[in-house]
Amino acid sequence: MPGRWLGIIGGGQLGRMFCFAAQSMGYRVAVLDPEITCPASGVVDRHFCAEYDNREALAEIAELCSAVSTEFENVPASSLDLLARTTCVSPSAQCVAIAQDRIIEKRWIKKAGVQVAPYIVIESAAALQTLRDETIAAMLPSILKTTRLGYDGRGQKSVCSPDEVRAAHTALGGVTCILEQRLPLAYEISAIIARSVDGTIALFPVAQNIHRNGILSQTISPSPVGDASLINRVQAATLAIAVKLNHVGVLCVEFFVLKDGSLVANEIAPRPHNSGHYTINACVSSQFEQQVRAMTGMPLGCTRQHSPAVMLNLLGDTWFIDKVRRVPPWHEVIAIPGAHLHLYAKKVVRIGRKMGHLTLTAPVLHEAQAASRNCMRLLHIPPE
Ligand code: ATP
Ligand code: MG
Repeated sequence: MPGRWLGIIGGGQLGRMFCFAAQSMGYRVAVLDPEITCPASGVVDRHFCAEYDNREALAEIAELCSAVSTEFENVPASSLDLLARTTCVSPSAQCVAIAQDRIIEKRWIKKAGVQVAPYIVIESAAALQTLRDETIAAMLPSILKTTRLGYDGRGQKSVCSPDEVRAAHTALGGVTCILEQRLPLAYEISAIIARSVDGTIALFPVAQNIHRNGILSQTISPSPVGDASLINRVQAATLAIAVKLNHVGVLCVEFFVLKDGSLVANEIAPRPHNSGHYTINACVSSQFEQQVRAMTGMPLGCTRQHSPAVMLNLLGDTWFIDKVRRVPPWHEVIAIPGAHLHLYAKKVVRIGRKMGHLTLTAPVLHEAQAASRNCMRLLHIPPE
């Protein structure tokens, strides 16, 4: 019940936005994050500044908090297991462990009856030596991806020949990887679902995602691409995955739609996701509010979208023109009707780093898109 403490593992931007939602409902929030100046640090009621496997900190959080969630899947599953001994934890350690490993993740997606991209596993440099060139060639062109700890396109390399595969594997540190066939994408979309302990579900509208250099650049919702039958298939696949995982909380599934119309699940995030940030300003209940509702056993909120929206990620690039640091023209940006600025209070600006996002809402989608083009120009975000 409101008034109690909720815990969040990870105090990045997702943890910060989780805090806002939880606190506005009257909860107090404790975060575990080893970084003293993490984005949530200025917002939380209590910051446990320790590593994600620090047993004393985990014990204190378990004692203090009625329910605990995580902002990302790279937290050790054993930490969540430890917390789950004495408090409610969602997503479960099992869901997190699945999403941490691309091989296990793909296996579960397939178990839910959803297609994934063809791939082969490369366990080690020695294992790669034993692979015949023809076996590798059957996957080319492809993307070599580390099975663990990849995000925003990190831990990935595009490869077009067996020699390139071997060089890329060395460059990725010789760790376990998958060699995933590069698919002919028509577009990318994602679906976000919230599922409560009793199995009730609420789906947000399906959104289109545009990536640049492997990093999400924009989300457009509702998706202007994909007909009703495709949207139904996406929602059915997302539901099947959430049920198969017995997931509690918010879950995002990223999909590829191929040029021949087929649907392929790329990856899952068992938590609020960057492609759902638009829900803060465009839906009745945001994805973060849903996470709070689901983890506390409260009824789920309404996912109806009241305003069409475009979300632009604000990368550190926007803070530089010709390598010279500047303050982005926020005055002009937020003067645009329907512009909602979200900055994450990150102390260090770096090229490629997610510093914030901007959501443009409007009565009709093409107006939100026009506003987003204006903002992209003002912020020097290159057009697609
Ligand atoms: P995230 O930040 O979403 O966790 P990630 O680092 O895990 O990213 P992926 O989602 O695997 O990376 O890939 C990032 C992007 O690269 C995809 O959204 C897509 O644009 C492109 N991509 C990845 N795999 C493929 C593929 N098999 N075929 C074509 N494009 C792909
Ligand atoms: Mg991805």
